[in-house]
Amino acid sequence: MPTIQLHTEEQIWDFLKEVTDPEIPVLNIVEMGIARKVEVDEDGKVLVKITPTYSGCPAMNAIEKLVNEKLKERGVADFSVKLDFAETWTTDWMTDEAKVKLKDYGIAPPEKTEDEDDDFLKSLSNTKIVPCPYCDSFETELVSQFGSTACKSQYYCNECEQPFEHFKCI
Ligand SMILES: [Zn+2]
Repeated sequence: MPTIQLHTEEQIWDFLKEVTDPEIPVLNIVEMGIARKVEVDEDGKVLVKITPTYSGCPAMNAIEKLVNEKLKERGVADFSVKLDFAETWTTDWMTDEAKVKLKDYGIAPPEKTEDEDDDFLKSLSNTKIVPCPYCDSFETELVSQFGSTACKSQYYCNECEQPFEHFKCI
């Protein structure tokens, strides 16, 4: 009987950190808050739950596939990857570090959504003012609802005269 190597939940999380979002190669799916849950049962069977950032996001199929490939590559013998729609992904699941990396990559981070009751924030999100990731200016305008992918919209900064993308998977 072949030896089956058992993995801890911690190891599985480490493997998941090696999977980057195909849309945003500087971020891994753990930082993004896409990988939600890891369970290892007593037989060593691994269950990974991932929640799509946005129900129509075409990247999700790719992410599911990448997770499968990564776990296989890492020698995880018995696992399943499940898409979990029980909860709705929000940008609050992204780590602050992830938001900084996103900005450094030239994509305006998504707005926080948890303070919906805040009138100021509400008006901000209604008018969709997205600060420029390069110069932090608010003198930006929406060019197109769709950027390079359906999950991003295209903006232009009037201050530093550069186009940038806004990640809007919320
Ligand atoms: Zn700018």
